[in-house]
Amino acid sequence: MEKLKQAIRERGNVLSSEVLKVDTFLNHQVDVNLMAAVGEEFARLFKKDGITKVLTIESSGIAPSFMAASSLNTPLIFARKKKSLTMNENVYNSQVYSFTKRETNDITVSKDFINANDTVLIIDDFLANGQAALGLIDIVEQAGAKVAGLGIVIEKSFQDGRKKLEKDGYRVESLARIHELKAGHVTFVDELVT
Ligand code: 5GP
Repeated sequence: MEKLKQAIRERGNVLSSEVLKVDTFLNHQVDVNLMAAVGEEFARLFKKDGITKVLTIESSGIAPSFMAASSLNTPLIFARKKKSLTMNENVYNSQVYSFTKRETNDITVSKDFINANDTVLIIDDFLANGQAALGLIDIVEQAGAKVAGLGIVIEKSFQDGRKKLEKDGYRVESLARIHELKAGHVTFVDELVT
C-alpha cells in the first residue's frame, strides 16, 4: 500500500536493525485518515471470506482494525493484555511473548464474543516473530471458530512470523513488507531488484 509505505519512509523512525518506531501515525498519535484507508484495504482483501468478527489486540491493533470491521459490517473485538477486574473466568486465554517489551503477557477474550459459528479476521499492527498472531489464532481456535486469515499493517519480513504462519496454513496479508532496516533507512520487499 503506497500511502502506508510513504508514511513509514517519511514519518517512521528506525530505532535499530530490528525495531521500527511509528508513534507518529500508528502507535501513539494516530493518523486517522491513513488508518481508515488501511482498514478499508483489509476489508477489500477479505470481503469474499464471510468474515463475522474482526479480532485484534490492545492497544495498537485497534486503530487499523476499526475501519476494517466497519467496512465488513462486523463487530471488532480486542484481546485484553491482562485479566481486568471486571472480567470473570468466562474467558479464552493465551500467552504471548512480546517482542518489544521482552515479557510474556496473558491475553484474554470473553467467551461471549467468539463462538464456533464465527469466521474471524485477525489484524495486528506489526508482524515480527508471530507470537501475537499465534496467540490470537489460539484464542479463535479455542472458540472452535475459523481463522480466515491475518491482516498485518507492517510486516518485518526479515523475521520469521510469516514463515511460521504460512507453514501452519494461514493466509497472511501485509500492507507493507519490510526487507531491511538499516541506519535510518527502510527497504521494502517490493523494491528489491531481482
Ligand atoms: P510478534 O508477536 O510478531 O513477534 O511481534 C508483533 C508484536 O510486537 C506487535 O503486536 C507489535 O506491537 C510489536 N512489535 C514487533 N516489532 C515491532 C516494531 O518494530 N515496532 C513496533 N512499534 N512494534 C513492534
